[in-house]
Amino acid sequence: MFEQMESITRTDIKRNNRLRIYNQLREAGESSCPALAKKLGLSLPTVSKNIANLEADHLIFSFDGKSDTGGRSPKIYDVVSDYRVAIGVNITNRHISAVASDLRGTIIAHVRYRQKFVKSDAYFKKIADTISDVIKEAGVADTQVLGVSLVVPALITKDGDHTYYNGVLRLDPYVTCAEFSRYIPYPTRFCHDARSAAYAENWYNRNVSDFFYMMMSDTICGAPILGRGPYSGLDNRSGEIGHMKIVRNGRLCYCGKRGCMDSYCSTKVLSNMTKGDLALFFQLLEQKDEKAVTRWKEYLHYLVITINTVRMLFDCSIVIGGYLGQYIEPYLDEIRQLVQQEDPFCDNADYLSVCVCKSEASATGGALMLIDQFIKTI
Ligand SMILES: [Zn+2]
Repeated sequence: MFEQMESITRTDIKRNNRLRIYNQLREAGESSCPALAKKLGLSLPTVSKNIANLEADHLIFSFDGKSDTGGRSPKIYDVVSDYRVAIGVNITNRHISAVASDLRGTIIAHVRYRQKFVKSDAYFKKIADTISDVIKEAGVADTQVLGVSLVVPALITKDGDHTYYNGVLRLDPYVTCAEFSRYIPYPTRFCHDARSAAYAENWYNRNVSDFFYMMMSDTICGAPILGRGPYSGLDNRSGEIGHMKIVRNGRLCYCGKRGCMDSYCSTKVLSNMTKGDLALFFQLLEQKDEKAVTRWKEYLHYLVITINTVRMLFDCSIVIGGYLGQYIEPYLDEIRQLVQQEDPFCDNADYLSVCVCKSEASATGGALMLIDQFIKTI
């Protein structure tokens, strides 16, 4: 029994050393064996052996570095960052977009098409064509593709096999991933849009650890990242702030209920003024257009209620993302002041910030989930 435990522990340590060495190269970039040994507190023979194995597995490569002393050149190692790539596809009512991420989490290709969502064979083919386009742009072979995360604005099961609520796409609740991915020649699973965007934010944003991500787009959802990881809830629908009631018997929401936050804080509330062009709305606001200013003030009223509620619930940092995150930076101080006025415990609202992953966060997060899964198997 004890012998078995000891051997399991030894195996774990070996695996852990390999992973630490690989991740050090992946995150910090090229290095030599002595530098890795020093950085990670490992013996030189342990590092050299692991490096040899990782190179034999084609996960890393080596080249001759420059000698400081004029003696023999040290061998330098780095990861083969496109040894595998992952694809994230984001589906909305108006667009299909796709990104390809390498093992460092660098987006190496991106495509975006205006395409109205219609549940049809032609649309499913278009998804597969979009994936084919992004893989072509990334310049990688089929064998390098880990898989596809199909990010949808729907509630999905934890295994990503099917949806169980489809109010945004106006579909029956139960739709399988197999149906959507029938023309995709790679392993594919559904991912939730806000949770994927929060995943990307958690990957790139080093300023916050525990935070609540507010995905403020044409539809609204949130995702709590607590203890450096997502909290998904009992039925994988935590953070559905879009359907918090903020006005009794208020505007009709697409979910069928009244007074939901989505009806007051969807970015459509702003872009409806400019024929769907959110950038144009913010241009008008910058020019202090009277109608835009009035609309913005009303919008902020409801946004502040929501931010305050989230803060009272979680006592964590709050990150504003989604489409709004691309434009809201110049107004952050104003929003912080309004939020602070509602907060009985704080004399500032520095806990509120704007996302760092501003473009294609949902597709990116979907791809990064697959990258993380793969790295754990190295
Ligand atoms: Zn609703």
